[in-house]
Amino acid sequence: MKPPYVKKTVYLSLGSNIGDRAANLKQATERLQDVGTVVAASSLYETDPVEVEQQPMFLNCALAMETELTPWQFLSQILVLEQSMGRRRTQLKGPRTIDIDIVFFGDAVIDTSDLTVPHPAMHQRRFVLEPLAEIAPDAIHPVFKSYIRELLSALPQDAGKVRRYEEPAASS
Ligand code: ADP
Ligand code: MG
Repeated sequence: MKPPYVKKTVYLSLGSNIGDRAANLKQATERLQDVGTVVAASSLYETDPVEVEQQPMFLNCALAMETELTPWQFLSQILVLEQSMGRRRTQLKGPRTIDIDIVFFGDAVIDTSDLTVPHPAMHQRRFVLEPLAEIAPDAIHPVFKSYIRELLSALPQDAGKVRRYEEPAASS
């Protein structure tokens, strides 16, 4: 019999383009420790807004987590976390203090009105693939059966600019 609680590895993509973006990503990462166990975190990357116009630049990062929650339990917790960090959905694809997207949830393939996993646009987004390739180049897309590093190298050059972000040194 299958055990009722199986530990799964979840890959997340985090983004922020309002306020202290680096602090927002750090705070979200810390608070995600209450949702599961964060086992890897990428560097921060500064990325051009894509699919949206006239918006500030984003900072993005990727996380690997372990959880025994179901995908829907996990989703509802990250939505609560986004809300509690001040995310307000006033405009579709609008600027956001924090966005947390589930890229992979173990090898689950889910397509419902409130949750699509793997994330349907992840393989087209350099701002998702580049941070993820830093921590999990050999993670496998359960539908395409491709490694993250393969999806990244297949991206067209115009899939948005992404560069490693160095935090400004704290002034004393
Ligand atoms: P986006 O990230 O596309 O800009 P939002 O962050 O506003 O959009 O999320 C809108 C909804 O997307 C969420 O309420 C959630 O139900 C749904 N959703 C579907 N699939 C996913 C996923 N893989 N990760 C996170 N949210 C998802
Ligand atoms: Mg989102």
